[in-house]
Formats: sequence, structure tokens, C-alpha cells
Amino acid sequence: MTLPAGTPVNPDLLAVNGLQKYFPVKGSRRVVHAVEDVTFRLRHGETLGVVGESGCGKSTLGRVILRLLRPTAGQIRLDGRDLLGLSPRELRMARRDMQLIFQDVYASLDKRQKVGSIIEEPLKVHGIGNRKERRDRGIELLEMVGLDSSAAALYPHEFSGGQRQRIGIARAIALSPKLVVADEPISALDVSIQSQILNLLVDLRKQLGLSYLFISHDMTVVEHICNRVAVMYLGQIVETAPVEDLYSSPRHPYTRALLAAIPRLDHPGQRTQRPLLNGEPPNPENPPPGCRFHTRCPSVMEICRNVSPDEFSVGAEEGFHGVRCHLYGD
Ligand code: SF4
Repeated sequence: MTLPAGTPVNPDLLAVNGLQKYFPVKGSRRVVHAVEDVTFRLRHGETLGVVGESGCGKSTLGRVILRLLRPTAGQIRLDGRDLLGLSPRELRMARRDMQLIFQDVYASLDKRQKVGSIIEEPLKVHGIGNRKERRDRGIELLEMVGLDSSAAALYPHEFSGGQRQRIGIARAIALSPKLVVADEPISALDVSIQSQILNLLVDLRKQLGLSYLFISHDMTVVEHICNRVAVMYLGQIVETAPVEDLYSSPRHPYTRALLAAIPRLDHPGQRTQRPLLNGEPPNPENPPPGCRFHTRCPSVMEICRNVSPDEFSVGAEEGFHGVRCHLYGD
């Protein structure tokens, strides 16, 4: 079969295998098991949603993949390159290909710099273009994210929350990255402008061929923007599937509970009749043995208390649907 011109030979942009990140607890021998044995693929041009409750490790996962944090164990390959085997210089070059969109964009923007110089800064750091070329590129980026070129001469505090997120996005795409990790990019914004930012992200993905790792606690948003979804619980991915499959046939009891918590559109004040989650997630310093979800699972069995489940394939019309749960074992 002949691939169309421009199709990458390797369909996977990002390949993560057995990723683990532990944080030592200050003044003790204990560690926080933030990310545990995470394996997944992200294809070129795809948006993979990573969902889960606050504290499940999804933001840490994003930062480890971007090499802002060093993993405790595992492998990360970006476009075939081993990100953990790079020299400092090679890593600096690789950073052009992967960028972060922050949740708290205001905190991430230097309030003393004008917007033009904030957006041009990544170009400057990487020695790209002369002063005029960088300025022209800055204007182009502002227009790409729906802002007027006059924004370049203003300071971040002169913009609304949505406009600031547009500035953050312009900065993130300045170096034409391949991978963008968007960490709760709309959760700090007014509901009225959330969909505008989501639509901008979708447009930029098509226009620039970006791939997103889209981190969110909001199942509705993830359904709107993602091609596939990975559900995280206490540092582990417990279910992964194409978005249609996950929302129409969720298999893991935790995924079912998350979906059950989405308000019903026909009765906005109500939620669905399926069971909701009981209790709080266990302390990640001391995760439960066996299945990590067993302390809250309505379907818990004896085996769940001692044996950690493998990931089982449960089939999907298109793509892989995997579930980490003994209910689906042989
Ligand atoms: Fe529930 Fe057992 Fe499945 Fe864990 S392995 S989700 S405890 S049924």
C-alpha cells in the first residue's frame, strides 16, 4: 500500500511504556506513587484525553512526558526518539517539538513583559530568526489565535481570561511543535468562553497537524474534543478506548462512575441513575494492594483485594479498547 505524501512512516507520535513517577516524602522514607506503570500510544494528529479525579496523577504524567520531571522508570519515545536517552543539548532541541498549555495561564505569563515579547521569547531562546522575523512571526501567531496584532504592545493584565489563554496558546505553538500537552486548558475560564477556546484548539490541530494530550477532569469536554480517552485512577490508566466506544460502552467500574456523574441534558439538575463513587481516593503514599480501585468498587471480588489486574482487551469497533479489571479476565 502506498501512503499519501506527507504521511509519517511511524503512525505513533508518542509511545509511553511502563512509565513510573514516585516523589519522595520530605523527612520520611515514604514515597508518593504518582504515576504507576503507564503505557499508551498517541498517533500523529490525534487528541488523547487523560481524565480522572483531581490528584490521580494526570498532570504529573503530562509533565513527565514533557521531561519537566524525570521519571522514576519507563520509556518515552517522541517520533521514534528516546526522550530519556538525550544529552542536555539534544533535550533542548527536542523541546521545540513538545509544548505545554497551562491551566493557570496568567501565572505562567510574565506580567512585566509585553505580549509580543512573551510570544517571541521561545523563538529567541532557540535562536530562530532575526528581530524583524520574530516580530512578524509574533503577529502571525496572534492572528492565528484570534487576537488583533495590536495586542503585541499590551501587557497580560490588559486582557480577559479567554484572551490570556489565547496568548498562552500562541506561545505554545510558536515553535511549531508536534505534541502539545494541554493541562486543564479551559477549567479556569468562564463557561461562556470555554467552547471558543476548545474550537480554537480543534482548528489549530487541523491547521498545524498538532497532536494533543488533553488533560481534564471534565468528561463532557473530553467527549467533545478527543479521539481517544485514557481514564486514570490513582496513578494508573484503568481504561482506554476510542471516544465513542468509551462513552457508549464504558467497562471499568470507575469509568462508569465518572460518566454517571455527568448531569443529564434532559434534566439538568439531575444525574443518571447509575451508581456514583463512594468515598475519597486512597492516599497515593500507600496505594491499596491488588486493584487500586477495590476500596471503592461496587463490583469488588476477593481476587481484587490481592491481585493487580492486567489490561484486558474488550474489543472496539475501531481501535483498541483496554480495561484493567478482573471482570474482563479469562
Ligand atoms: Fe472492581 Fe475488581 Fe475490577 Fe478493580 S478489578 S475495578 S475492584 S471489579
